[in-house]
Amino acid sequence: MFELMALPYAPEALEPVISKETIAFHHGKHLAAYVNNLNALLEGNPLAGLPLEEIVLKAEGGMLNNAGQILNHELYFGQFSGKLGKTAPTGKLVEAIVRDFGSFEAFKEEFQKKGATLFGSGWVWLSADKDGKLVITQEANAANPIQKGLKPLLTFDVWEHAYYLDYQNRRPDHLAALWQIVDWTIIEDRYIK
Ligand code: MN
Repeated sequence: MFELMALPYAPEALEPVISKETIAFHHGKHLAAYVNNLNALLEGNPLAGLPLEEIVLKAEGGMLNNAGQILNHELYFGQFSGKLGKTAPTGKLVEAIVRDFGSFEAFKEEFQKKGATLFGSGWVWLSADKDGKLVITQEANAANPIQKGLKPLLTFDVWEHAYYLDYQNRRPDHLAALWQIVDWTIIEDRYIK
């Protein structure tokens, strides 16, 4: 049985970038539904008991969609600390960002553009390949970069449920604001792990 992740911050801690109302629906309703759906689908299924990542790599259909969305949201909600975190990368991660994108500013611009131009529902990701090279990918619906053999580091959710209450149709404005709440200590930990 999977459980709904506990948020590592108070529901209002990400305001004004993400309101507590959006958190209440996004975490308390949408993510909770994915957890409930996956638990129901796993009853009597041979994949029951496997770690979430393995289910994402092995499942199909509805089970894959729900497991993928749980993994995606755990990485998403888990990359914000709810306090004044590290606002820019340092160390090996910033070296890789400069090497692969030219600068931190150029990386952010490219990441936002890929998020803004993803058609329909999905996620934009920063991931590392097996050699540590960084890539930005657009993934539709519930897909996760682990399905391509990549290690996911950072993600912005571009499903409308992630921003519609606060930004309505202004997805680019929402994406631009999210940089204010990313804690780069967490992204660096994912990169060097
Ligand atoms: Mn979402």
